[in-house]
Amino acid sequence: MFNHAPHNYICPICLAVSGVENDKTMMKQADIFYRDEVVMAAVNSKFVGNNPGHVIIVPLEHFENLYEIPNEVLHRIVSVSKKVAVALKEVRNCLAINVLQNNEPAAGQHAFHYHMHLFPRFENDQLFSNMDNSRVAEPADRDQYSEPLKDYFKSHPITF
Ligand SMILES: [Zn+2]
Repeated sequence: MFNHAPHNYICPICLAVSGVENDKTMMKQADIFYRDEVVMAAVNSKFVGNNPGHVIIVPLEHFENLYEIPNEVLHRIVSVSKKVAVALKEVRNCLAINVLQNNEPAAGQHAFHYHMHLFPRFENDQLFSNMDNSRVAEPADRDQYSEPLKDYFKSHPITF
């Protein structure tokens, strides 16, 4: 519903879900710190302004946006977002968390596969004025954020 993915769209998130690493997807498998049978969570390949290492949660199955994602999948994403938010509070020692989820290009959606962003917030970080100031981070720079989250979820497994 209200779809914008072009015909024959090669979905970068579906590639990452299926374990592919190539130039069509920026996500590396090492970015993924949580996965169950419905969703996975990863450090985003793009860092925004003064808030590097923010996280996205995605459904394993392809749905373009909030309008069409099934409720049971959305419920899982929200449940996992709660756990990931608490993990970010501990691992990043952040002041606060923003949840952001963009639908359609006019709202800033770039990858046409539903994804929920979680941003750790820091003193005077100016996140919202920097939203267009993003850069693709080197995989090694992403690892410093994904590794502590992998360790966290080893000792705090999510159960439903
Ligand atoms: Zn997809």
